[in-house]
Amino acid sequence: MTKLFLALLLTTLASAQTTAIKAGRLIDPDSGTVLTDQIILIKADKIDSVGKSLPIPADAKVIDLSNKTVLPGLIDCHTHLADGAHETDPLSQLKKSASQSVLESVPNARRMLESGFTTVRDVGVYRALNDVALRDAINRGDIIGPRMYVAGAYLTITGGAGAMTGMAPDIKLPWDLRYGEANSPWEVREVVRRLYHDGADQIKLLSTGAVLTHGSNPHTLEFTPEELQAAVDEAHQFGLKVAAHAHAAEGIKNAIRAGVASVEHATLIDDEGIALAKQHGTYLVMDVYDEECIQAQGKVSNIPKDFLEHDAELGEVHRQNFRKAVHAGVKMAFGTDAGVCDYGTSGMQFAFMVKYGMTPMQAIQAATSSAADLLGHSKELGSIKPGKYADIVAVSGDPLSDVHLLENIPFVMKEGKVYKQ
Ligand SMILES: [Zn+2]
Repeated sequence: MTKLFLALLLTTLASAQTTAIKAGRLIDPDSGTVLTDQIILIKADKIDSVGKSLPIPADAKVIDLSNKTVLPGLIDCHTHLADGAHETDPLSQLKKSASQSVLESVPNARRMLESGFTTVRDVGVYRALNDVALRDAINRGDIIGPRMYVAGAYLTITGGAGAMTGMAPDIKLPWDLRYGEANSPWEVREVVRRLYHDGADQIKLLSTGAVLTHGSNPHTLEFTPEELQAAVDEAHQFGLKVAAHAHAAEGIKNAIRAGVASVEHATLIDDEGIALAKQHGTYLVMDVYDEECIQAQGKVSNIPKDFLEHDAELGEVHRQNFRKAVHAGVKMAFGTDAGVCDYGTSGMQFAFMVKYGMTPMQAIQAATSSAADLLGHSKELGSIKPGKYADIVAVSGDPLSDVHLLENIPFVMKEGKVYKQ
């Protein structure tokens, strides 16, 4: 590098454009408080400083949100963005190639970001590694979407909740639709090793049967405690956290005892499960809104009948258990199972979380500071603080008195770049 070039480069870096946001009200989920009349200074993709009367550099680009409430970019900890166009029946995957399915996912990612969710924890895909491809395309800037942390595939028993089921037994599936199947502790370890090698950010396993899977039953247990333990142990070798899908009470407790970071759905959690989650510091990610979509889609009849029957009996119990877990003080992170409901509608869940026992601030914390903690990325995400990514959203009015405002977010910035204004 010539000296002249180096000098030019340093000058360019020093004068990198600063953006200044004037925030009328600023929600700080870390402290659960609201600050007023704040200036947020952003350099490149990060927040540089935040304060009441910060001097705004003369050449800064100013974004005036002084009549809005500003909050950190939202995080949905349970999405499925990479399964292609919205289809309820997993068997529809067999009508498309992997490339078709991932390219159909491009608008899913855009809708997610434009609805105010700047980060997602994507917890499983039928065509293995489609989510890795989607994540990497977003990171390169080729397509628009939230920052994605991906699972790579479902770690599941053969014929289980994460497997492609419902075909005749003599139909042979391609490798990417069988990638995550494992039927012993050692096979579980093998899948975790492959997932790590192939770029997964976390492990998603299925501890019990599921609602939206043919021949599956949410009340049955799938992986044994030995297999769950092997998954968590092997994942930890590689620095990965584990998210466990579980509906049945015993499957929830088995997963918590094995040391998973979060239990997804936690539908039939009992008092012992709630106590265990508290004791182990396990997050619950309870998708209390999507029953609405499943039953509504059932009325226009594009949902298989067995899925509707699984769902109907569980919906209300799930929500009452959410209420119990909130009251018990269990750690809760926001997750919607996006893909069950349409992409871009995750914000609808806030009102349900409030209806079933959270304060609006708790619901916002679940989707910001707590979600960042579950991801293991509190240093970069989850609040508007110096050094963190400039992921910022804003709404007119006060979402702490009307949480429905989070259903239509008019301002979205990710990594210092405005995507919606
Ligand atoms: Zn899911």
